[in-house]
Amino acid sequence: MQESLSLLNTTLVVTLRCNLHCRLCAVSAPYYEEPPHYSFENLTGGVAEYFKAVDRIEKFTINGGEPLLHPQLPEIMESFEPYMNKIGMLEIITNGSIAPTERLLKALQFSTKIDILIDDYGKELSKNVQKIIDAFKVYGIKYRHRKYYGDDAHCGGWVDLLDLSKKQRSSSETEQIYKHCAYPGPFHCFVLFDRKAYICGVYKRCETLGIIPDIPDDYISFVDDSIPVSVKKEQIRNFYNRKYFAACEYCSGFCDDSPRFAPAEQLEKPYRETD
Ligand code: SF4
Repeated sequence: MQESLSLLNTTLVVTLRCNLHCRLCAVSAPYYEEPPHYSFENLTGGVAEYFKAVDRIEKFTINGGEPLLHPQLPEIMESFEPYMNKIGMLEIITNGSIAPTERLLKALQFSTKIDILIDDYGKELSKNVQKIIDAFKVYGIKYRHRKYYGDDAHCGGWVDLLDLSKKQRSSSETEQIYKHCAYPGPFHCFVLFDRKAYICGVYKRCETLGIIPDIPDDYISFVDDSIPVSVKKEQIRNFYNRKYFAACEYCSGFCDDSPRFAPAEQLEKPYRETD
């Protein structure tokens, strides 16, 4: 019998499109020239492979971009029904700017483990926070409201991870950055883009820009169903035993002492239109 595999956090990026244009976006959404909505088949196929290997996940997060822009978000949420016995909490993180449709509200009612995190960047950007809260109350959907503006903004603000120049550091110095980075640390990050799980959005951005080549040992693929489940479990177990990943050589890390910046500062000129 195979040993059970439990994880703390997994994030599924359903879209890289966003209606905000945050300069320091954690997944660099405004900097993608053609940010995709990942297709329903892509997302559900990756999730099915993931749950063949993972027996328990404490928190599974649906994120973007802005997930509420994905036209099939209700169907995506409903597709989790067969896995709810393995999930502690199924969360969506939204930027508080888009009121949910009735179709989505009804889709969120199938499990009491669904819990929506509303990031509030202030009235100018997160225009619909109250409307969203009111709707969730009517439909009995759990939510949390996270304040991301002002002097007491969550986490003290955001960190600038935009500079992807190769850092002049020794291997042991990069190991130290990785050791203190919040993504492998308290965030226990395991983020799925296009059926591949990475340590963070910075890695995905470095790969997309060709700063680092395709390095199969640096991510977990949920594309290939020919790999035995026992091997996939072992790959995932080893994921957090790394000293660092290739992208860390280009990154300053999200550390306790990293300078903090105002969350959701908007680019003056959006790089693109997404709607
Ligand atoms: S130091 Fe590594 S794990 Fe941390 S944000 Fe940078 S690339 Fe990601």
